[in-house]
Amino acid sequence: MKLATKLIHAGAEPDPSTGAIMTPIFQTSTFTQEAPGKNKGYEYARSQNPTRTALEKALAIIENGKHGLAFSSGVAATDAVIKLLQPGDEVICANDMYGGTYRLFTKVFEKFGIQFKYVDTTNTDNVASAITDKTKLVWLETPTNPLMNITDIAAVASITKAKNILLAVDNTFASPYLQNPLDLGADIVMHSVTKYLGGHSDVIQGALIMNDDELREKLYFIQKSCGAVPGPMDCFLVLRGIKTLGVRMKAHCENGSKIAGWLRSNSKVAKVYWPGFEDHPGYAVAKKQMRDFGGMISFELKNDSIEEAKRVLSSTHLFSLAESLGGVESLINHPASMTHASIPREERIKNGLSDSLIRLSVGIEDADDLINDLDKAIG
Ligand SMILES: *Cc1c(COP(=O)(O)O)cnc(C)c1O
Repeated sequence: MKLATKLIHAGAEPDPSTGAIMTPIFQTSTFTQEAPGKNKGYEYARSQNPTRTALEKALAIIENGKHGLAFSSGVAATDAVIKLLQPGDEVICANDMYGGTYRLFTKVFEKFGIQFKYVDTTNTDNVASAITDKTKLVWLETPTNPLMNITDIAAVASITKAKNILLAVDNTFASPYLQNPLDLGADIVMHSVTKYLGGHSDVIQGALIMNDDELREKLYFIQKSCGAVPGPMDCFLVLRGIKTLGVRMKAHCENGSKIAGWLRSNSKVAKVYWPGFEDHPGYAVAKKQMRDFGGMISFELKNDSIEEAKRVLSSTHLFSLAESLGGVESLINHPASMTHASIPREERIKNGLSDSLIRLSVGIEDADDLINDLDKAIG
């Protein structure tokens, strides 16, 4: 089945008791049992909920995986993966990943004796040489946030497979419409469902998708034991969001391409980060592992001051100044003071994240209106 069809029909079975075409919102905490231990597959809604089950099936199908697990947020999904580890274990991860992931690793998990090594994963040799006999997990994000760096998932997978190390990929920026890491050899795909999968800026949710049955059992055990599950209403909203992922992503990609090109030709813009440019260092890999280049763009101004960046950020009207991404409406954001404020400044600059960097989540409005808005703001 082709992707556009899968997105509409994934996991959707009419409700057996009524024939309702849309999976109902099972707003219930518990399920009556016919006799002790005799039930219809549902006992208590932290463990299972039919709306969540329908969504988890859909998530698995659209990522070409066998199992899906939905969490109360993206960071809760990441948290579950790290809880597979023991004190003394090492994790290799990208040096410019999502700020909240960095915060979770350094501020929460380091104190439990798990070691995190940050390397530039765009050069896969760095991953290979960071591996020790304590390495249990490689955590990738591609494209990265916000510099749009690209890591070759298949190349890293061939390294981790040979050493029996788990490979998890944060696929939030690409969405399953553009990239399917399990097909490239990853063991776990993580999503901040909050972004493109939800797509309408109205839900916080996370997901993990995997093929291995044993891995699914371990992660399900953590999900149920730690309890970071999403509510049925949120699962319903994401089931609805997934149906339009195809049409939305197509529009995000088209607008992204137009705006990236326009920014690049603007005399006040110093540099544009977008993986669809042929001279982007990750272009060849992006072309190989992604179906298109997405609607996330970052740029630096020629007047490289924090004041000028702030002036632009407060001058747009269609681009709303806000954290997050992946919704139908365009957002503009300042990583240094917003999404990546939790990363120390020296660390940030060292990793190429300048004070004046501006990040766009290009929505699906008319591209001419968006360009007009940016043109007036950049001035
Ligand atoms: C937003 C985001 C997360 C965290 O997800 P939440 O749903 O906010 O908990 C993780 N990774 C990336 C790339 C993100 O953009």
